[in-house]
Amino acid sequence: GFKCGIVGLPNVGKSTLFNALTRTAAAQAANYPFCTIEPNTGEVAVPDPRIYDIAKIAESKEIIPARMSFVDIAGLVRGASKGEGLGNQFLANIREVDAIIHVLRCFDDDDITHVEGKIDPISDAETIETELMLADLDSLERRVDQTRKKATGKDKEAITVLPMMEAALGVLNDSKPVRVLLDGIAAEDLRILKTLNLLTSKPVLYVCNVAEEDAANGNERSEAVAKMAAQQGAASVVISAAIEEEIAQLPDDEQADFLEMNGLEESGLDRLIREGYKLLNLATYFTAGPKETRAWTIPLGAKAPQAAGVIHTDFERGFIRAQTIAYDDYVSLGGEVPAKEAGKARDEGKEYVVKDGDVMLFKFNT
Ligand code: GDP
Repeated sequence: GFKCGIVGLPNVGKSTLFNALTRTAAAQAANYPFCTIEPNTGEVAVPDPRIYDIAKIAESKEIIPARMSFVDIAGLVRGASKGEGLGNQFLANIREVDAIIHVLRCFDDDDITHVEGKIDPISDAETIETELMLADLDSLERRVDQTRKKATGKDKEAITVLPMMEAALGVLNDSKPVRVLLDGIAAEDLRILKTLNLLTSKPVLYVCNVAEEDAANGNERSEAVAKMAAQQGAASVVISAAIEEEIAQLPDDEQADFLEMNGLEESGLDRLIREGYKLLNLATYFTAGPKETRAWTIPLGAKAPQAAGVIHTDFERGFIRAQTIAYDDYVSLGGEVPAKEAGKARDEGKEYVVKDGDVMLFKFNT
């Protein structure tokens, strides 16, 4: 599954947010409780109303939503790349995640100490980002000389990797995150970049933790963060961890009223996951039958065999073809049989690019 790491300076609201998210998720999906894998890791069901529409039509006994994990990576401080705090351990934890959720303090509260002595989310973001960039520089500099030598010696792998290493070093020396290389990158280059496993090449979503009264519209600080995010190819959302904490403690039927009272249409969890999906370039397809309706997560642009491989590697290896019904057709026509009769169930081959919402049935050799 996909894993998002929650980072940020101490006292910005990471744990409050993490606890609220995982508790809300547990309450929303009673059948799929949030499960603690490790103390700081929570798995949540991806909220997607389409799965209920499909399951109703397919008369499925079970509904299995897609899942996403959150890891609370506490303890990043200035100097982490030099081993300050529990620096190295935390950098290692970040290496394991697919995307970074970076919580920034955008609320005032004199009772809650700020480690840097002032509320300045832009400067906080830079502090953390600098540590990540220094860690990347360090790791690249340790590898690049040897790769250069090998490339001169006609080593094939080194020749493939070197240009990407040099490009990454170039942007880091320019005090920019490697992420800036992602814009419009070719698939092969992206593959190579991923093998370098750099911290600042991971997609980032900034979470502006604002006071309750700013939850609906944000504030000057969150606007500054949004601007910064746009310049970096990152995204940002406004969330009040305090509100999320209160919601998490309310019974289901009171949650909607509470959101409305605060001028919000959906919970922070829903927004965070939706933005996370966008950020990670993910899409969902469904399988549906009397036993279960299930949502599967794939990279946007995945072809049918790769999508089948998410269910089981054998499905990818033995892929023959896929029957595909678009979500809208499935729901408006009333399921697989009527969709087939209406000619809306297509047979697709190996080159089919799966679309978000497709209801799929795979034919494969074992
Ligand atoms: P972490 O160190 O980043 O995990 O921060 P915590 O989640 O432990 O929060 C630090 C302190 O700030 C706690 O006392 C929280 O109750 C408080 N806090 C977190 N979010 C908010 C918020 O949105 N508004 C206010 N006023 N306090 C908050």
